Amino acid sequence: MNYKELSLKMPTDYSDNELRAIISKKTNINEFSFEILKKSLDARKKGNIYWLLSVRIFSESLKGDAFIPQKGFSVSYKKRKKHVVIVGSGPAGMFSGLLLQKAGFSVTIIERGADVDYREKRIAEFEQTGAFDANANYAFGEGGAGTFSDGKLTSRSKRISKERAFIMDAYIRAGAPKEIKYLAYPHLGSDNLRIIVKNLRYEFVEDGGRIEFENLVDDLTVKNGIIKSVKTADNEYQADFLIVASGHSSYDTYRMLMRHGVGFRVKNYALGTRVEHRQELINEAQWGVSSLNGVKAAEYRLTSNSEGFLPVYTFCMCPGGTIVPAASYKDINIVNGMSNYARNGGFANSALVAGVNLSKLLGRDVSPEEALVWTHNLEQSFYFERYRAPACSIKEFLHKSSSPSVSGSSYPLGLTPAPLWEMFPVSISESLREGLKVFTRKLKGFDEGLIIGLESKTSAPVQVLRDSAALCTGFYNLYVSGEGSGYAGGIISSGTDGIKAAMAIMEQGQ
Ligand SMILES: Cc1cc2nc3c(=O)[nH]c(=O)nc-3n(C[C@H](O)[C@H](O)[C@H](O)COP(=O)(O)OP(=O)(O)OC[C@H]3O[C@@H](n4cnc5c(N)ncnc54)[C@H](O)[C@@H]3O)c2cc1C
Repeated sequence: MNYKELSLKMPTDYSDNELRAIISKKTNINEFSFEILKKSLDARKKGNIYWLLSVRIFSESLKGDAFIPQKGFSVSYKKRKKHVVIVGSGPAGMFSGLLLQKAGFSVTIIERGADVDYREKRIAEFEQTGAFDANANYAFGEGGAGTFSDGKLTSRSKRISKERAFIMDAYIRAGAPKEIKYLAYPHLGSDNLRIIVKNLRYEFVEDGGRIEFENLVDDLTVKNGIIKSVKTADNEYQADFLIVASGHSSYDTYRMLMRHGVGFRVKNYALGTRVEHRQELINEAQWGVSSLNGVKAAEYRLTSNSEGFLPVYTFCMCPGGTIVPAASYKDINIVNGMSNYARNGGFANSALVAGVNLSKLLGRDVSPEEALVWTHNLEQSFYFERYRAPACSIKEFLHKSSSPSVSGSSYPLGLTPAPLWEMFPVSISESLREGLKVFTRKLKGFDEGLIIGLESKTSAPVQVLRDSAALCTGFYNLYVSGEGSGYAGGIISSGTDGIKAAMAIMEQGQ
């Protein structure tokens, strides 16, 4: 079939019929099919906001070349008689598992947390009572940290188009909207993700994979750099290959790996807090109106690089979302953000963080173990009774003055007024303050928001020593992958990192 590609500007609330009519007018043909290749919102001019679409039209009536589809990511099945154990069912664990199982390996995923249905129940109870469950929380359980999230599928990683396509196709088979393939800023929403992670599990199990929940991997048997087996409290699993995709919140797993001689280095990461505003305020600042037909909710991405301060940026913004208590252990509190697919909540939240080099911050060389301890101690210092989150207004943070109350937030377990500027090391506080001044100049009304809790999980504080194929230095069959490796951050890059480990194992285990 012949084809033609067009760029189109469409009003924000266009309908499918209007899009067909425009294509017909521009091409002078009535019989055609089309697919959207890219769709992004152009909101640079407040009075003139539109969707920019790139579409591919197919029709016998078009002159020119026939369309030849590009080959996607395919794996050929071959029975391999090798057992791969994967620790963790987050994006890195699940996508590596799916790929390896399809390639003919026998794969067991071991997950310390609960399945998604039980996890959802326990999180709901936690948000009502403050009773934390070590096996079923925002960090641990089926689907990993990405399950109860905004499900943004963006990534800054380059040259990952095949891996990204594998992930997107798997998500669509599992029930994700097809638009994730062409939107400039796609997102799944937490409500969709709960169904999607379950369907990914069904596909993995139908392909022959095994998955075990509420089973903590707490030891390994290693001989001369070769992992022989993986241990949990009740079982030992022989392994020809091991992928540890345990995320960046599993501090006991990091320590278990260190005990067995897996090398880590300290890496730069980011620390800060969450900011929250009324979504209408953000819509007005970005669009000039409080709502826009055909667009869910306005977003922002802000950076500040003032001389003499740490770089400060917003990260993982959740339009129409909620701030959640994302602790992975009982005695700490950290916050993160999530939203449902409709993004129709009344609040907008985002991480507001400063880039940190821990050795520079503390003025001495810091070991990987110390980096974990220091970060954990900071997370403990933000724990207030019943997981109430310490909070202040942005104006108070700017002027270093506290008020007796804070209100107007989506955070479910309540806020306790606190001088947040005193709760961070001085250089972080001062840099966040500078960033807030810059952001208030860039986005009208930014200083009318709240600052809530500690955000310490934008990426891992440590990075594993491994080669370019993700094989751990000094080991022959151990891959540490995903966000916990310190080489990935976010759903897509962690999933991609898992796929890379799977491909390296396919090479090794021909
Ligand atoms: C609330 C929230 C919102 C987020 N929003 C987004 C977003 O919108 N977009 C985005 O790109 N990223 C988002 N993220 C980050 C994203 O979720 C992570 O980058 C991603 O999930 C990392 O994938 P992973 O597979 O490497 O690790 P994880 O998803 O952390 O999965 C690791 C899994 O390993 C299990 N595990 C750990 N140790 C063991 C052990 N010893 N034995 C057995 N199992 C173990 C854990 O229980 C966990 O399920 C969000 C995170 C949170 C918490």
